[in-house]
Amino acid sequence: MPSEALLTGIAIERMIDIRRQLHRYPELSNEEYETTRRIRGWLEEARVRVKDYPLATGLIAEVGGIQEGPVIALRADIDALPIQEKSGLPFASLNPGKMHACGHDFHTAALIGVAFALKKQESRLKGTVRLIFQPAEEKAKGAKLVIDSGALEGVQAIFGMHNKPDLPVGTIGIKEGPLMAAADGFLVKVEGKGSHAAVPEAGNDPIVTAAHLVTALQSVVSRNVSSLSSAVISVTKLHSGESWNVIPDQALLEGTIRTFDDGVRLQVLKRFGQVVDGVAAAFGTTASIRWIEGPPPVNNDAALAKLGLAAAADTGYQAITPNPSPAGEDFAVYQREIPGLFLFIGTAGTQEWHHPAFDLDERALPVSISYFTRLAELALDYYSTGGGASL
Ligand SMILES: [Zn+2]
Ligand SMILES: [Zn+2]
Repeated sequence: MPSEALLTGIAIERMIDIRRQLHRYPELSNEEYETTRRIRGWLEEARVRVKDYPLATGLIAEVGGIQEGPVIALRADIDALPIQEKSGLPFASLNPGKMHACGHDFHTAALIGVAFALKKQESRLKGTVRLIFQPAEEKAKGAKLVIDSGALEGVQAIFGMHNKPDLPVGTIGIKEGPLMAAADGFLVKVEGKGSHAAVPEAGNDPIVTAAHLVTALQSVVSRNVSSLSSAVISVTKLHSGESWNVIPDQALLEGTIRTFDDGVRLQVLKRFGQVVDGVAAAFGTTASIRWIEGPPPVNNDAALAKLGLAAAADTGYQAITPNPSPAGEDFAVYQREIPGLFLFIGTAGTQEWHHPAFDLDERALPVSISYFTRLAELALDYYSTGGGASL
């Protein structure tokens, strides 16, 4: 592995300290006030320009712009989860019931490190790097807030990453095309007719409909999605009834649908609706669906993926082709506006994302900083030559 300190000229101990401070004081989506204040403090200390976009939480900053040129953006998410930390770490959360269990503290510290590194060579940058510290990723709301604030205007391409516990430190997971899933949610309300449990023929039992729905909905994945594509439907909540001897008049189902392709997503949502209507009707009940529209799939631009590979080669890290993740990620919302590349940084964790004992190997922090510093330079070079043909 190359010497990151030499590559970026910044003190890694300081970056680890920043990550641990963030980890100690996690804040939930849209409540990241202290986190934003801390980020601002660190950036201002390094004389990085903090911009004035209308965001309640989160923050936009810029480096470069001394040389005229394109604007590219780097994005980190800053929010935490409503989880009681059980990592046993000396710098574990001091905010009860809140935890950086998705590693967004790592993402934030890494982007601050990139800001410091780019600041040191600001006059050499062939354009501007806009740094987006995005709130509310876990609620899939923050990217839209950033876009609505105007912070994406003038930006030609955007780059972001997620830590990846199952990849070793020193590896970068880069893949063009789909990388993470569209994550839609559903609430199905089945309405029947209640009756005495001993006289079911006097009613229309919504529990029978709900039970059939749980299994029938799986046929959408097995019978309507090509074996070469993929989709997940999970019913995660099923509630009906209050008593052993009463057939209730209502049943509620909730869950999520994950897909990696717009066409498959539309097809699954359409068939889901048909199955719900048909099964409900078959048992003399009715059903309504309320959709919770999640982010679309993360879909990486092919030219930017090549840029990502070039940055890995330049910094001496191992680029690998990762398996797509069925988790959702609202970075995808930016990619609907401008070309983007989202990638994985190997962090050799012992637990998956959102686990109460989630942790990561901090040696991945300098990897991420040196990698993204180089990637930003390459992206500015690329766009300052008009999307150059050198790739
Ligand atoms: Zn998460
Ligand atoms: Zn995350």
